Amino acid sequence: MSLDQSTLFIDGEWAAPATSDTIRVVSPHSEQVVATVPEGSKADIDAAVAAARRAFDSGPWPRMTPEERIDVVQNFSNLYAGKMGDMAEIISTEMGSPLSFSNLAQAPAPWMQIEAFLTIARSFPWEETRAGSLGEVIVRHEPVGVVAAIPPWNVPQFTIMSKLIPALLAGCTIVIKPAPETPLDTYLMADLLQEAGVPAGVVNIVAAGREVGEHLVAHPGIDKVAFTGSTAAGRKIGAVCGEQLKRVSLELGGKSAAIVLDDADLAATVEGLKFTALMNSGQACVAQTRILASRANYDNVVDALAAGVGAMQVGDPLDPATEIGPMVAQRQQERVEKYIALGQEEGARVVLGGNGMPDGLSSGWYVRPTIFADVDNGMRIAQEEIFGPVLSVIAFDDVDDAVRIANDSEYGLAGTVWTGDVEAGLDVARRVRAGTYGVNTYTMDFAAPFGGFKNSGVGREFGPEGLAQYTELKSIYKP
Ligand code: NAD
Repeated sequence: MSLDQSTLFIDGEWAAPATSDTIRVVSPHSEQVVATVPEGSKADIDAAVAAARRAFDSGPWPRMTPEERIDVVQNFSNLYAGKMGDMAEIISTEMGSPLSFSNLAQAPAPWMQIEAFLTIARSFPWEETRAGSLGEVIVRHEPVGVVAAIPPWNVPQFTIMSKLIPALLAGCTIVIKPAPETPLDTYLMADLLQEAGVPAGVVNIVAAGREVGEHLVAHPGIDKVAFTGSTAAGRKIGAVCGEQLKRVSLELGGKSAAIVLDDADLAATVEGLKFTALMNSGQACVAQTRILASRANYDNVVDALAAGVGAMQVGDPLDPATEIGPMVAQRQQERVEKYIALGQEEGARVVLGGNGMPDGLSSGWYVRPTIFADVDNGMRIAQEEIFGPVLSVIAFDDVDDAVRIANDSEYGLAGTVWTGDVEAGLDVARRVRAGTYGVNTYTMDFAAPFGGFKNSGVGREFGPEGLAQYTELKSIYKP
């Protein structure tokens, strides 16, 4: 089956692009071109925003009742459920995440988000009457308007669904600009939206790079920007939105810490960390890449972690047994290798991995899963987001010191604590300044808000809070 495409999804149709520019999607495993698709231009963005604007200002979608919109989104959810295997495979092909991860997080998790938002929308207070101090007041959640959604490549459907579904349920229209590494999944998604009965112009999709993204963010036809990506890009986008007083939500980077207390079951902790620290080959914003262990337990944690991670299977993402795949692009492979070299220059000790290709692989953008011991939290490898399978084990004196180290970061996205005493774990959870936290687990719950403290972002996705970000509040005073 060819994955090539020649059109863009604009105004409910498969439209010819404004230019002949193309994106070549390259397999991170084979380094071969797997598909060619149009690269969206500023003119395509203008057409997409115009269509979304028309659909918002005079189309049916914002004027339908929440129940009518819920029915259409439920159709989409049902169709999506039947295509999750295809979706997972497309995403593994385009960006190289292991199929074992894709079959969990790249397609089923987005579908679970849709279902969670549908449940929330069914009981959301779209319009309520309050007994005010001077009489009755109607408080309404109205759609925020035309949304620009900008997702990254690492979990493309996951980060699109957290924006698209609340936007749709609230009555917004949307222009999505997928990252150039991952345009392919959105073609399947657009087919399903069309089949579900989403009206023309409500969803428009133009894959393109940063410059075209900037044009979309600054476009006067956009009312709200929803961005997931790097903190550097988030700052720029936030500045533009601040200047223009656009609504904006930003889901940004992280450098999260996993605190291993001495009473933790070490075997179970290492099993858990293999996922929370290395999911998606370490290309995850919530990856807990700083492992904090007490001085007394330090060598045990380092040894157990090295043994556990050392046994993980690295290789072809489409092999169901693979646990760690390639980096998305050569530039990402080079970036991770630079950090591995930097860690050694900074005086950290490599206990697993190091630079060079993993055993048995001679092509593809692979790096060896790497564990550094003797890491000081002030080192750059402990402070900067590497976005690859590189872990730093950092020693702490006592629980207070562990919490201090976990909080000594510009980021505040996620974290975990591993302990035999759940109450002690909850106490740590309350003290770490991060938007999500797990005790002996890290599972995102789509009924609850997700987002970052500090430089990890502004605003929240998921839960009623994530739906509310796509609404404006209006108070109507009754006579
Ligand atoms: P990136 O910031 O380079 O790009 C993300 C998206 O924004 C892409 O679609 C890109 O084309 C676009 N873009 C970049 N600069 C832009 C600008 N100035 N204006 C408009 N659009 C712009 O990030 P990336 O390398 O694709 O993704 C990795 C980053 O994403 C990591 O930092 C990771 O932590 C973060 N991330 C965060 C979350 C979260 O929920 N907090 C989830 C996944 C990834």
